[in-house]
Order: sequence, then C-alpha cells, then structure tokens
Amino acid sequence: MGDRLKGKVALITGGTSGIGEATAELFVLEGAQVVISGRSNDKGSAIAQRLGDNAAYVHADVTQEEDIKASVDATLEHFGRLDVLFNNAGAPVRTTLDSISQEQIEQGVHLLLSSVMLGIRYAVEPMKANGGGSIINNSSIAGLRYRQGDLLYSAIKAAVTHYSKLAGVELGPHGIRVNVISPGAIATPIFWGGSERANTLTAEENARKMSKLQGNLANATPLPMSGMAVDIAEAALYLASEAGRFVNCHDLVVDGGRTSLFNESVHPS
Ligand code: NAD
Repeated sequence: MGDRLKGKVALITGGTSGIGEATAELFVLEGAQVVISGRSNDKGSAIAQRLGDNAAYVHADVTQEEDIKASVDATLEHFGRLDVLFNNAGAPVRTTLDSISQEQIEQGVHLLLSSVMLGIRYAVEPMKANGGGSIINNSSIAGLRYRQGDLLYSAIKAAVTHYSKLAGVELGPHGIRVNVISPGAIATPIFWGGSERANTLTAEENARKMSKLQGNLANATPLPMSGMAVDIAEAALYLASEAGRFVNCHDLVVDGGRTSLFNESVHPS
C-alpha cells in the first residue's frame, strides 16, 4: 500500500481482465480512485466491489463512441475529476494478408485505434480543467517488430504508438502527457480467446491455461520468466504518477528483452 496516486482519479478501459484488472488493483492500492470500464457487467461489478469504495464499474464497449463519452462522464460523476486515462481495452484481431476483408479492417480499427483516439478526445477537456493529466495507451511490441502478432493487429498498434506521440506534442502545453506502453508477451486470457472466452470456462480450466502459457512464454524471452499483467500495471503506475512527470510522447517497452531477439526466418524450411 502506497500513496503514489493519492488524490488522483483514473479511468481504465477493459478493466475486467488481464492487464486492465491488474492496473485497477495497483492504482487503488496506490491511493487512486478508479473507474473500470468494460463489457462484462458481473465481473466488473465484482472487481469494483472487491476493491472497495475507491473503485466503480461502468459498462462501456469501446467500439461505441457514445459509450466512451459516457464512461468519461461517469468518472466525473463518481469521483469529480479525471487525472489518468488508461486506454487498455483490446482483443486479438485475426486475419491474413490474403484473406483480409474490409469488415475485419473496420472492426480492428474500431476496437484498437478509434477507441484510443476518441478516449483522448473526451478526456482532454476534464484534464485541461485540472491543469493536466496523464493518458496512457496500451500498444504492443507487435507494432515494432514482425511476427509478434497478426499483420492487421500489428499495423494498428503501430498507429496507436505514433498517434500517441503526436497527441503528446499537442497536449503537452496543457500539462497533459500522452505515452504508450508496448507490452511483450504477457500471460493473460488474450492468449486463449480473451476475457469473454475465459468467462465461459471454470476457474480450474483458466488456471490450467494460465500455468501452461506462463511456461511457454518463459521460453520465448531472454529473461527466464513470463511477463505478467502486474508488470504492465507497474509501468502504467510510473507513467500515471509524479515519478513520470517529465515523460511524454514515450513508448515504454516492457518485454523482458524480446524485441532484441532476432531469430526469425523469413523463409521457413
Ligand atoms: P484480456 O483479454 O485479459 O483483457 C482485455 C480486456 O479488454 C478485457 O476486459 C475485454 O473484455 C476488454 N475488451 C475487449 N473488447 C472490448 C470492447 N469492444 N469494449 C470494451 N472492452 C473490451 O487481454 P490483455 O492482455 O489484458 O489485453 C489488454 C491490452 O493489452 C490489449 O489492448 C492488448 O492488445 C494489449 N497487449 C497485450 C499483450 C499480451 O501479451 N497480453 C501484449 C501486447 C499488448
């Protein structure tokens, strides 16, 4: 328990699973008041209840502009201000170069990129009213390297990173910092179909998948361990807190060294 976010109010999208859930827990432990937004009402309400009076849940689908706006409004209603926005919600986008369709492109862009752009848009006014704020966008090392994700997912995450840097230049004069985190492989339900699929499995089934995944990821990173959701939560805490006050337009890569590996063959045997 610390006070690195004492007095701060944060909105975390996709806060009902994985990285978003771990970040909500850490932020509350560090003194913040947190609104978790997401689509799993039962899970979101249970997490908010577990975290106590300094947490609240609001239903929001980040592919819907009105939901994004409503979650910012709900944060202001619940806790009176907005200091930190973590645009975190996401899911795998699965397509291939020769099967990609207009529909898949639009779905991917809505989920992973428009959500970030509109989240920033609606956070700016309340943050300006506070004299500043911290916006953190969850990107990916897939936006930096080949074969760390599907092509469409990777291209959209690269756009998230670039947009964040440009937004940080425009918003810096208002005291609003915009940064991205590029996680490497982090053990979360995203690897077995995302939280919606995880919600259909028993606790034992999810625990088994998590345990197997951690073993596999530990073998794919220079550090002999799997990245965990809390590793990204700690990065978000740094960017959200006073410790990160001079950090803007930055891509914080948290990947155990994975982006420095170069062992891919373009011509598989
Ligand atoms: P996760 O599946 O555990 O959590 C994703 C969350 O986003 C869930 O709560 C899900 O319900 C929510 N979500 C999905 N679609 C949504 C929508 N339309 N509206 C609102 N919420 C929605 O996965 P995670 O690993 O915690 O992923 C969080 C973010 O981290 C994603 O943006 C993902 O792309 C990024 N990321 C993850 C990894 C990794 O290895 N786990 C690596 C790089 C980047």
